[in-house]
Amino acid sequence: MSPVQDKPRLPESFSSLRYVKGVGPKRAEAFEKLGVRSLHDLLYFFPRRYEDRSQFTAIDKVQAGETATVCGEILDMRLKPIPRMPILEATLGDETGAIHAVWFNQRYLKDILRVGRKVIFYGKVEFYKNRFQMTSPEYEIIEGDEQTVHTGIITPIYPLTEGLYQRSMRATFREALARTLDETIHDFYPGSFRASKNLADLREAVREMHFPENFESLARARRRIIFDEFLIFQMVLLERFEKATEKYRAHVLKEGTAVMAGFVKSLPFTLTASQAQAMHDLIADLASERPMNRLLQGDVGSGKTVVAAFTLLLAAKNKMQAALLVPTEILAEQHFRSIQKLLQPFGVTTALLTAATEPEKRGKMLAELKQNRLAVLVGTHAMLQEDVTFHSLSMAVIDEQHKFGVEQRTRLLEYAVRPHQLVMTATPIPRTLALTIYGDLKISTMKELPAGRQPIKTYWITRTKQDEVLEHVRQKLAQGEQAYFVFPLIEETEKIDLKAAEKEFKQLKAGVFKDYKMGLVHGRIAREEREWMMREFREGKIHILVATSVVEVGVDHPNATIMVIENAERFGLAQLHQLRGRIGRGAKASECFLFGEPTTEEGQRRLRIMTKTQDGFLIAEEDLKLRGPGDFMGTRQSGEPYFRVGHPLLDENVLLEAREAARWLKRDNRLETSEWAAFKSYLEKSVIAY
Ligand code: ADP
Ligand code: MG
Repeated sequence: MSPVQDKPRLPESFSSLRYVKGVGPKRAEAFEKLGVRSLHDLLYFFPRRYEDRSQFTAIDKVQAGETATVCGEILDMRLKPIPRMPILEATLGDETGAIHAVWFNQRYLKDILRVGRKVIFYGKVEFYKNRFQMTSPEYEIIEGDEQTVHTGIITPIYPLTEGLYQRSMRATFREALARTLDETIHDFYPGSFRASKNLADLREAVREMHFPENFESLARARRRIIFDEFLIFQMVLLERFEKATEKYRAHVLKEGTAVMAGFVKSLPFTLTASQAQAMHDLIADLASERPMNRLLQGDVGSGKTVVAAFTLLLAAKNKMQAALLVPTEILAEQHFRSIQKLLQPFGVTTALLTAATEPEKRGKMLAELKQNRLAVLVGTHAMLQEDVTFHSLSMAVIDEQHKFGVEQRTRLLEYAVRPHQLVMTATPIPRTLALTIYGDLKISTMKELPAGRQPIKTYWITRTKQDEVLEHVRQKLAQGEQAYFVFPLIEETEKIDLKAAEKEFKQLKAGVFKDYKMGLVHGRIAREEREWMMREFREGKIHILVATSVVEVGVDHPNATIMVIENAERFGLAQLHQLRGRIGRGAKASECFLFGEPTTEEGQRRLRIMTKTQDGFLIAEEDLKLRGPGDFMGTRQSGEPYFRVGHPLLDENVLLEAREAARWLKRDNRLETSEWAAFKSYLEKSVIAY
């Protein structure tokens, strides 16, 4: 082989990127890491945010603490050749005054920012040693009336990765837009459609997204881009939905109303109005041959399990089978116990299948399932294994659906006659969003909590007050109440986190709580021990359960009334709400203490929201705003989020417009007309990526 052939060759797809001046193999590779493989990808690689550098501040008007753009002439340059950390100082003057700038370790700038040059500085102003100064400001040299790229405009700030820098990114995009925009981007909407929706021209929109004239034109450009994102997503959903519903039929489950009446009579409490409503919704769906696809979203503690139990019972009464799939063993055991109790009066056969089920027992169970001698199976992922086959599965309930991947969720549905599906979540999402991201899914919502629940008082505690709180907890324990102490456990820092939890556990045990029984549970503790611990806690033999977020999901123990969350700033908002949902489940008043000293504004906001509200819907909405919708929607197969620019909640109006448009296109089969041919082919390309 000749040495020439030995040279690593770039994949085909890189080549087009390299038409852009300044993008060599190294940078092409860096771009690839960001998912940019073609010119089209590049042009759609939009800034993360923008900074307004279009307004110059007169130098005598700058203020300490503010970020300013100033323009003037370099009056002086000094290099202090301190070994290893040379300091470069410059003085910039305009008609009103002078300001200083310093750079560390950037000796080379001396040859760029020469005395006499006209430049723009952009950066944060400090008042240091009696003068105004900027540290490492961004700069731009003005030569003639050449257009300024980095400052003096609304400046794009791009996401970066190793090997890419803001300054060169901007140059790259200037170049790419000038040379490749016209041949790469083609508007795919008919002109009349664009006009009626008041959408910006696509090329203009792409250009504006990178280098906006002003914030108004940026908003218009953004609207166009996210309209496209949302429309394509909706089209994909509609298509999938058509495929999913046309083909299948399900078992008809009859006598819902009568079964419900009997069930309600057997309960030790009366249903809340929303529980009753949810059951009525289900009765109607299940009486149909069309496979049900319903989401039951109810805030923590709203009583979803009873509703689930009802559907299991209804299946059994129809002489068919039902399954309840849950994400953890602790939860599976708990659900199994409550389901057993609820269904016992009706003589329904139930079994629990987890990874812990003994092989012999498991074998027997699977045989019974096949022969339709077992009506209800509760279990974890263990029931998704291939050899678990039902005789006539008519109802699949999935608790905490967001803990399962799409594939796992649909695994239970793979029967010629499709089981009805009920997915449950305690992480509520706004209705429009749910409809939008699940397509046709029907939704029952339970906002109400069972009567007699008291609001949970939530406090955000800083270090100085911790001892007082612990003393308070001690007094509560003395009155027979129980407490959870929760520690964060983040995968990347798992070892350190576990150590911290164990250390803290020992300290508490030897200190304030030495008169009480404490148990520790986390994922690394053996299953038997964990189960034993949970049981002891349930029976009141352990007073404090120290846990990692394993207790986050579903655990139901009404006598626990206190929750202390350590390092609360490390939990997400939805997760904090879930954790807190472990208390306040009985008639007694509950208290939640968040120990935390968040350093970021966002972290503080999370804890503040927790102290202000217990409304899971409100919290979910705030969470979505803070973090984006990724957690609810998952990502595409390629690992990218579904929307790069749009935010389904913050841009809800555009989302609804796009949804309307998608339906309109589908309804009259407009995609088949020549007017829409360009969009159709664009859509086909996009669908592959989804
Ligand atoms: P979640 O919706 O969080 O899954 P659960 O189903 O675990 O809530 O129910 C929480 C607790 O409330 C359980 O102890 C359950 O027995 C009880 N519960 C459910 N419905 C009612 C009701 N209508 N009245 C009183 N208690 C109820
Ligand atoms: Mg639950």
